[in-house]
Amino acid sequence: MLTLDKITSQQAIDLEDKHGAHNYHPLPVVLSKGEGVHVWDVEGKKYYDFLSAYSAVNQGHCHPKIVNAMSRQAETLTLTSRAFHNDMLGRFEKYITDFFQFDKVLPMNTGAEAVETAIKIARKWAYEVKGVEETEAQIIVANNNFHGRTTTVISFSNDENARKNFGPFTPGFIKIPYDDIQALEKAITSSKNIAGFLIEPIQGEAGVYTPADDYMSKAKELCNKHNVLFMADEIQTGIARTGSLLAVCGNCNCENHCERQSTYSRPDILILGKALSGGAYPVSAVLADNHIMNVIKPGQHGSTFGGNPVAAAVGMAALEVIKEEKLAQNSRKMGVLFRSELNKYIENSTIVKLVRGRGLLNAIVINDSQDSSTAWDICMALRDNGLLAKPTHGNIIRFAPPLVMNKEQLLDCVSIITKTLKQFEK
Ligand SMILES: *Cc1c(COP(=O)(O)O)cnc(C)c1O
Repeated sequence: MLTLDKITSQQAIDLEDKHGAHNYHPLPVVLSKGEGVHVWDVEGKKYYDFLSAYSAVNQGHCHPKIVNAMSRQAETLTLTSRAFHNDMLGRFEKYITDFFQFDKVLPMNTGAEAVETAIKIARKWAYEVKGVEETEAQIIVANNNFHGRTTTVISFSNDENARKNFGPFTPGFIKIPYDDIQALEKAITSSKNIAGFLIEPIQGEAGVYTPADDYMSKAKELCNKHNVLFMADEIQTGIARTGSLLAVCGNCNCENHCERQSTYSRPDILILGKALSGGAYPVSAVLADNHIMNVIKPGQHGSTFGGNPVAAAVGMAALEVIKEEKLAQNSRKMGVLFRSELNKYIENSTIVKLVRGRGLLNAIVINDSQDSSTAWDICMALRDNGLLAKPTHGNIIRFAPPLVMNKEQLLDCVSIITKTLKQFEK
């Protein structure tokens, strides 16, 4: 049977091309196995994974603890819907709210759904708590944001490709430049109808744009002052990726931000996804305190799969791994090493302009026109040399390996990257 027979890379690619919608443009490599920081293609070639499924696989591929939790739960009970209680959801809810120090969580599946959920909560809060007149609520967002692919979420994207011919769009969003506190202040004070400010602490999809160190804390202050919800989309940056548990923790080096709760830019609404399952299963979540989350009453929001027993078991295991293996600290250490090694190379490079990022969420900017294929060509050469990365907007290559990478592996990767870049120097 086709589904069980071994197939070649070319056969797999041809099948997708013929039978699948063409909504992605993947690097031509067909993977069939993953373990830790490595993946293997169907021909058995081994690669370092330097994308980690857009930071979903922070804990490394097929982490045994997560896989065990998933398979044990899958053999016991997979889905009840929320029409009935199950014996895992409450445990997960307690675990994750303790972990991130919020009163309540609303579990969903994908990142985009969690963003939608956060938007719905913020609007309802604006009408029922803040006293905004119905249908008038506004949410401030940043230019070049990425928050997912639903109709409402693309309504406030400025990626033409993501928007064109998908309208009409959802109104109620104000776009401002990223990393511009004055623009935020102007937007916040422009109207009494602002429900929230939805922001990525680092813009991953846009090319790992890392704002000024105090941008998040100043934004949070402004939101506080004007009774506007500070909503952090940490779907890509959260869960240890940037060298702290959350990117809004900034440069705090503790294992869990709770130790300095008063000083970090604690969001009013925290949005998580991706690594919340270590890449094993779609698990996303919105966290907030009671005075916000309690605006949601029975029947007003939900999801058949949201908070299912498998997701609950996987979510707890995935977070436990982060803590037990001190992945935030490792990400921080490896990130410093990675950028310092690449900076040594960049000193004498004409093809790479700079490396930027925090923890193990980094990118290099290629010194060529936006629409040239250089970044793609470099990724193809990296693939040939045993390392998988993908260009993002413009001539930018994101480097985001699993956080379980050790020093020896990281230096090996740096040498693959610099060796490959040398092939492109003019
Ligand atoms: C990936 C991502 C999303 C969307 O998550 P999906 O699971 O793909 O729907 C939203 N926001 C950010 C910052 C992301 O990186």
